[in-house]
Amino acid sequence: MMAMERSPFLPLPQGMGIGQIEMTPTQLTVEVISTQPSACCPGCGIHSESVHCQYQRTVHDVPCGGRKVVLRLCVRKFFCRNAPCPCKVFAERLPDLVQPWARVSNRLLEELKAIGLAASAEVSERLTPRLGMKVKAPTLLRYLRTIPPPAKTNVTVLGIDDFALRPGDTYGTILINIETGKPLDLLPDRTAEAVMPWLSTHPEIQVVSRDRASAFAEAVSRVLPHATQVADRYHLVQNLRDHLQQFLDRKRTCLPEVEDIPLTERSGNTQGLGDAHSDQTSTVLSRAEAVDSQTEETSQSEALGGAEAPKTTMKQEPELACLTYAERKKKISRDKRYARYEHVLALHQAGIGQRAIAREIHMSRRIVHRYLSAEIFPERAPGSGVRSRGRSKLAPHLAYLQERWNAGEHTCSHLFREIKQHGYSGSESLLRHVLGEWRTELPPQPRQGPPRKQRLAPKPRKRRLSSRGASFLMILPPSKLTKVQQQQGAQMNRNEELRAVYTLSQEFVRMLKERHAEALDSWLKRAKACHVTELTSFVNGIRRDYAAVRAACSSEWSNGITEGHVNRLKFLKRQMFGRAHLDLLRVKVLHAV
Ligand SMILES: [Zn+2]
Repeated sequence: MMAMERSPFLPLPQGMGIGQIEMTPTQLTVEVISTQPSACCPGCGIHSESVHCQYQRTVHDVPCGGRKVVLRLCVRKFFCRNAPCPCKVFAERLPDLVQPWARVSNRLLEELKAIGLAASAEVSERLTPRLGMKVKAPTLLRYLRTIPPPAKTNVTVLGIDDFALRPGDTYGTILINIETGKPLDLLPDRTAEAVMPWLSTHPEIQVVSRDRASAFAEAVSRVLPHATQVADRYHLVQNLRDHLQQFLDRKRTCLPEVEDIPLTERSGNTQGLGDAHSDQTSTVLSRAEAVDSQTEETSQSEALGGAEAPKTTMKQEPELACLTYAERKKKISRDKRYARYEHVLALHQAGIGQRAIAREIHMSRRIVHRYLSAEIFPERAPGSGVRSRGRSKLAPHLAYLQERWNAGEHTCSHLFREIKQHGYSGSESLLRHVLGEWRTELPPQPRQGPPRKQRLAPKPRKRRLSSRGASFLMILPPSKLTKVQQQQGAQMNRNEELRAVYTLSQEFVRMLKERHAEALDSWLKRAKACHVTELTSFVNGIRRDYAAVRAACSSEWSNGITEGHVNRLKFLKRQMFGRAHLDLLRVKVLHAV
């Protein structure tokens, strides 16, 4: 047999040599010949030297110098001389180069898997031809699914959290080794029953860091009663802030007034505000404010300020305490609307026109009109807020409208009259809304009639600081606040109840930060003695999870790494265009590139 060539550019396993090479601008075709004198029968494991025949097998390999590499393997078939063996003839195996029946070499397979782990299958399919490889998305997904799970390791400090497979519908659990920062497993559910079997295979766990989900708490106490549970400090503070926000919703009249900068101006000024709002927390604050100003209807009233506040304060506390969380939220929302209703009436009685009232308190004229024309406060109809999914009343008339529109009839009142004759029972405003959209597609018309009057520059408006913004002021350390925020805080603290809650909130955050577990009991007692419904509810929550919260006040472990992995998982899901099944997601999470 002739001496086979070997090349540093194309390393081959022992017993293989390079034959002929064909080269085109994009591809290298290399003949690879096996030189092993014998082969091992896969049926019985006995070596045979009796060659039956030879055939060619095409295998793709890793690219070389930007060219695709195709190996043309000359493989032999052997007779198995072992009589009882069911294999009479077998093909020689080349396990170091390629797996039986595979179309890609081992090393190309590994590279494709690495690409598949780092990018989505669709992206990989488009990317690989540029790298001198080729793979179809479904094939790559099949390769990824063959990656075995990592070997079981010992865990001492476990981080556990849930993640959404389909938000609002299906949730899973992620388990992290906090000491190494490596993900351990993904589970298909977030119930105690789903987590317990996994926990029972790791009796060596000593510390479990978790958020405040009761399912995980229950699972750990049942399976690992010896383990210390640590509640996550971030979630504790967030939980406190949620309760503070509810409390401040009730105390809206005690919140300071702030200049209401229009959104357009605000976005234009972000650069300029950069210095004042340089730290992260104030950015969070200003962002919260921006969101609030879009969504929240806040009272600008001077008339209802300060003195009239007690309407929703101390007297109602026992009543509030009996309500569930949802009922309390509903009640707060109704109180807000009622305050605005009264404000509208007061302004109306002062002789102010509806248009002016609407402008003054940032409310639509329609609602002002509705308030003023109602004899009593118009309550929300049950089930309101849920948009009806019925078909629009306008739908049967759209074809006719379109025809008339195209014929040049663009006057809403005319069209309204016409379709009414055809049986339309909806409102003119609905029609006006639809025509308004159609009108935007018309070419601009020159304005008729007298020129517009020049508008006066709007005077700076004021609104109350939102409860969300104010709740941040209560938990952030004073040193992190801007000067304006400090003034706002001082203004809030003029109210005795707010001051007491502020002091307690600051103490709680400090206690967590500086790990003063011994101060927890006294804090809980004082917070309860305050008789603020929301704070009492927070204290009750802590009492239910006392040991874990106490551990949070002393432990060095935090669930930050777990939260980070949940974020990474969300990224991986989006990278796969949100179509990741759990098995694939698990492979991608556990085998990070
Ligand atoms: Zn055999």
